[in-house]
Amino acid sequence: MASVFETNLATAERLLTRFRDRPLGHFIDGREVPGQSERLFDNLSPIDGGIINRVHAGNAADVDAAATAAQRAFPAWAALPGTERKRILHRVADGILARAEEIAVLESLDSGQPIRFMSKAAERAAENFRFFADRAPDAANGLSLPARDHLNFTVRQALGPVAVITPWNTPFMLSTWKIAPALAAGCTVVHKPAEWSPLTAMLLAEIMAEAGVPAGVANLVNGLGEEAGKLLTEHPAIKAVAFVGESTTGSHIMAQGAPTLKRVHFELGGKNPVIVFDDADLDRALDAVVFMIYSLNGQRCTSSSRLLVQSGIHDAFVERLAERVARIRVGHPLDPATEVGPLVHERHLNKVLSYCAIAQDDGATVKVGGVRAGEPGTGGNYVRPTLFTGAHNRMRIAQEEIFGPVLTAIPFNDEAEAVAVANDVAYGLAGYVWTRDVSRANRVALKLDAGMVWINSENNRHLPTPFGGMKASGIGRDGGDYSFDFYMETKNICVALDTHTVPKLGA
Ligand code: NAD
Repeated sequence: MASVFETNLATAERLLTRFRDRPLGHFIDGREVPGQSERLFDNLSPIDGGIINRVHAGNAADVDAAATAAQRAFPAWAALPGTERKRILHRVADGILARAEEIAVLESLDSGQPIRFMSKAAERAAENFRFFADRAPDAANGLSLPARDHLNFTVRQALGPVAVITPWNTPFMLSTWKIAPALAAGCTVVHKPAEWSPLTAMLLAEIMAEAGVPAGVANLVNGLGEEAGKLLTEHPAIKAVAFVGESTTGSHIMAQGAPTLKRVHFELGGKNPVIVFDDADLDRALDAVVFMIYSLNGQRCTSSSRLLVQSGIHDAFVERLAERVARIRVGHPLDPATEVGPLVHERHLNKVLSYCAIAQDDGATVKVGGVRAGEPGTGGNYVRPTLFTGAHNRMRIAQEEIFGPVLTAIPFNDEAEAVAVANDVAYGLAGYVWTRDVSRANRVALKLDAGMVWINSENNRHLPTPFGGMKASGIGRDGGDYSFDFYMETKNICVALDTHTVPKLGA
């Protein structure tokens, strides 16, 4: 009988046929279309560096066609009763679940993320659609703010066509985080997925169309960031840009969108601390520390890439950690036994590996890993999970986002030092605190420069809660009503009770 791995490989071959038969196009105004120029780019496999498929590189005409379609579709979609948008978005969730295996296998192949994590991608994406579908009927609700002579009330109205620009790390799930609330609010969308993992965005576009999302409401343009992405952020029909990616790209987008006064929502990089105090449940802390940097290939914005350990337990904790890291199973992303798969692109692999030399030059120790994994010459972007020790917080390995399965351990003496070190970075996305002392846990959580803090837990997402970062990690929040604040305008309507005196001029 075929193993699950063999079955996955066979499924992958079958699913890739359509992408090999013809270059991947765009999805504009309800259908897949080729690019308006002849230009294509290669989508490379993280597994062996070969070409998975070829993709149309969107140009100005493609971006304009998509933005214009979104603009045309906007009034009718925004005017649809929220209950109707709710019904359609639940059907999108059903469609995602119906194609869960396809999404998981293609996402794994394209991004290198292990199938053990990607098998949940569809479920999480469907939850995003259901969550915002249920809120669509109330999205326009506002406040009642009575004054002495006037009644004030607020309503929210959809902003218009918006751009959604996403990265390569968990592309399907991440894009639904943005697209689901935008559609629930009544906005129309042009999505530009990352050029390093473009496959599943087309599945989402197809699923939305089949579920009854009208033509032009959800469009997709493939292409390079500096071209298609940039053009989208400059397009006058686009009212806002929801962007997930690197902090430097966020700066560029802000500048690109300035002439047309784009509203922006940024979810950017991180260098998140996990602080382990000596009174913590060290077994649970160890599990969480390992999970939060070595799951999803370490290519995860909320990964805890800096481990701050109290000095009294530092050596013993790091020894246990090193044993675990050395045992992590690196392998083919479609093998269910694999815990860390290949990194998305050779360029990214080289970036991640370059930090080993940087660590040693700065005086840190490569305690585990720091080398390529897999058979030499096979071309896969495999790297051994890596642990740096003997580090301090001013080193580059403690300051810069590496975005791979690479952890930097740093000792600290007391609570004040832990907070100071945790906050001594440009980023401020997430923080993790491990202690059994409730007061200390709360004191530290309040002092951390981070948009999200987990106490005695790894990252657990609850959709009504705000998601986002401080400092160089972002602008704005996702989740619950926070998403609607971004995708909608709040309007105040002030009604006189005819009891006040209107000032008279020239009377
Ligand atoms: P990236 O910034 O290089 O690219 C992200 C997207 O932006 C891609 O679609 C790319 O084509 C596009 N892009 C690039 N230049 C552009 C430009 N000038 N104008 C418009 N679009 C442009 O990021 P990446 O390397 O794909 O992803 C990794 C980064 O994403 C990491 O920094 C990671 O922390 C971050 N990330 C953040 C979160 C979060 O929620 N905070 C979540 C996931 C990933």
